[in-house]
Amino acid sequence: MLGLMQTKGLMISSILTHAARHHASAEVISRTHENTTHRYTWRDVEARSRRLVRVLQKLGIGAGDRVGTLAWNGYRHLEVYYAAPGMEAVCHTINPRLHPSDIAYIVNHAQDKVLFVDSSFAALITAIAPHIAANVKTVVMLTDAGHMPEVTLAPGMTLACYDTLMDAADDDYVWPDFDENTASALCYTSGTTGRPKGVLYTHRATWLHTYSIMLPDVMNIGANSRVLPVVPMFHVNAWGAPYAAALAGATLVLPGRHLDGPTLTEILNTERVTFTAGVPTVFLGLLQHLRSSGSRLTTVKRIVTGGSAAPPILIDAFRDEYGVSVEHAWGMSELSPLGTFNTPKAAQAGLTGAEATRHMLKQGRVSPGIDMKIVDGEGRELPWDGVAFGDLMVKGPWVASAYYGDEPGSALDVNGWFATGDVATIDADGFMEITDRSKDVIKSGGEWISSITLENIAVSHPDVAEAAVIAAAHKKWDERPLLLVVPAPGKTVDPASVLALYEGKVAKWWLPDEVVVVPELPHTATGKLLKTALRATYKDHYIGRP
Ligand code: AMP
Repeated sequence: MLGLMQTKGLMISSILTHAARHHASAEVISRTHENTTHRYTWRDVEARSRRLVRVLQKLGIGAGDRVGTLAWNGYRHLEVYYAAPGMEAVCHTINPRLHPSDIAYIVNHAQDKVLFVDSSFAALITAIAPHIAANVKTVVMLTDAGHMPEVTLAPGMTLACYDTLMDAADDDYVWPDFDENTASALCYTSGTTGRPKGVLYTHRATWLHTYSIMLPDVMNIGANSRVLPVVPMFHVNAWGAPYAAALAGATLVLPGRHLDGPTLTEILNTERVTFTAGVPTVFLGLLQHLRSSGSRLTTVKRIVTGGSAAPPILIDAFRDEYGVSVEHAWGMSELSPLGTFNTPKAAQAGLTGAEATRHMLKQGRVSPGIDMKIVDGEGRELPWDGVAFGDLMVKGPWVASAYYGDEPGSALDVNGWFATGDVATIDADGFMEITDRSKDVIKSGGEWISSITLENIAVSHPDVAEAAVIAAAHKKWDERPLLLVVPAPGKTVDPASVLALYEGKVAKWWLPDEVVVVPELPHTATGKLLKTALRATYKDHYIGRP
């Protein structure tokens, strides 16, 4: 027997209409490319997004078409975020930090018909134009007529100005209802090996993910929150912040392209931000600036970090020196992205100091709606004892079932589990801790060594700015850890003092066989260590040793 409840579908447009109707005066504040501050309200976002649908229609966009963006966090980008899915098209955010040939590949793979581009990417779009002309008919620069940059396109492509198009359009559009499983957004994984793969989100998955991240034990976003996603809107939907802020009626602060310590400090304080989210590197930069300038954060209460493992120094320094709680999250493009969040349960609530930090290094417990397990090489489930580590598998209504262009379900095993490619432990309270990407784990004499654990200890050395541990081939042990460190500005690193830090913290056989000091480490387009490149250079480092 079917129940008798209304069957209104979960439309992304209704996140926005909720914000416009019930939180009409809550603000969306943006730092623009021209370095001005733009302020308007959720009511304005909704009206302008309807106007943008009329623009998209004039550009020939219809249901199912992909609308690409190459843009920083800003209000015009936000309007594309809502207008494209609202009209049943797909908002395809592209990471501008990728290699131009990867960007062209992604645009063509997605068959984007139109691209919305920030002025700072004028040279990039000129460079790739000849390679994307078969698909992209219009490039719309996200600026006003007075700030149009020099852009040269290929024959058959048209250049347009966002504000000029918007000024000429009506806002008489009415948001339609359609199947909530319709595609809403597309995001390609950064892919440290091989070509990037597309993850195609739905309206339904986005709604459920939005609900879950707002919960008190997750990001705890409400109408009184002032939210600044440092994480770019091209990195897995800025972790859902643009949707969650709207559904909560929170103030949303979009910082634009400059994410350095001084700029961030200024915007966080001026706009009275209470909650911010981003990768550890950005907050390490912020910390360095606060320490060297003596500045304080006047309103920020919580920093959520994820995307790569949070180093202990970040958690300790913000808590002890600035009274700010650094909270650890884990996710991936295939999970919309949030899978786990580290909010203590009663058993951990009393932890302080080093014990609290140790606990916060865990990536956390699942957000409600997601299930997870760890399995060994034969697929057998491993115990939740915080010690056994194995491949992390997940399931849930906002987990991808296949990559764009593939058969539905093709990314899942026979029981519907998605293999994350991460290696993790889970403790008795359900807190998961990533020990590695499965391809980064070091297999020494048949036992596994966690590269993340070794890196975290290395970066706690005062003279070390960044560290990477990779598996180098070894005649006797198969693989042994090799530590690469970048000195902090103005410092030199003494390898022996770095190795001394490991004493008492890890088993002796986990110690890196050697420490190599390097001027810099390679990174992916989302700021993660590019270990494939390091392995290519250093994999034979121990060859010939006993
Ligand atoms: P992406 O799809 O680009 O967001 O990358 C997802 C991957 O980033 C995950 O599979 C993890 O390997 C890594 N990752 C994300 N969050 C964390 C975290 N808190 N700690 C360690 N690794 C993380």
